[in-house]
Amino acid sequence: MGRLKGYEAKRELKKTPEPKAKIPAPSKKQGLRFVVQKHDASHLHYDFRLELHGVLLSWAVPKGPSLNPADKRLAIMVEDHPFAYRNFEGVIPEGNYGAGTVMVWDEGTYSVPDAKSKKEAESLMDHGLKKGHIFVQLEGEKLKGGFNLVKMERPGQKNTWLLIKKNDEEASTKDVTKRAKSAKTGRTLKQIEKEES
Ligand code: MN
Repeated sequence: MGRLKGYEAKRELKKTPEPKAKIPAPSKKQGLRFVVQKHDASHLHYDFRLELHGVLLSWAVPKGPSLNPADKRLAIMVEDHPFAYRNFEGVIPEGNYGAGTVMVWDEGTYSVPDAKSKKEAESLMDHGLKKGHIFVQLEGEKLKGGFNLVKMERPGQKNTWLLIKKNDEEASTKDVTKRAKSAKTGRTLKQIEKEES
């Protein structure tokens, strides 16, 4: 269905506990959601997701986010995910796309500077996506403050972006990925794997 065609095409949704491809009715409530999932698939990575128009824009970040403005973290844009995916913590069974353990590493809301409503924030996001430069203010448990997503203009690499912390009060040289427990359940990847398989 629409924006989630790519998501559906990659999965046999009867064989994985991941959410169905459903787009919820739009909510006027303030506070666009973000989530970062730690995903122990064939290669450990972090999935950075921003709510937009009822789906989650998604980037795979191999090294994970950094609070250090000097770090430019490679972020590969992947297929939009269902809004419900933000709550998914569990194990994708062997033989399925992305097989491995998923943790809700961080979650919260994001805002777009100068947007006075959710609608305005979403239209600024649409514009940023087209332009190849998104700036969001995160209010999570681990990630806070401004983050830039900048699209690389390289032929043949149309999904390549960089995730870069803004130099603000929340910037830090501490390695935030050392904080390795779920923001939702406090569990480690090992515990999730054990309890959800
Ligand atoms: Mn992933």
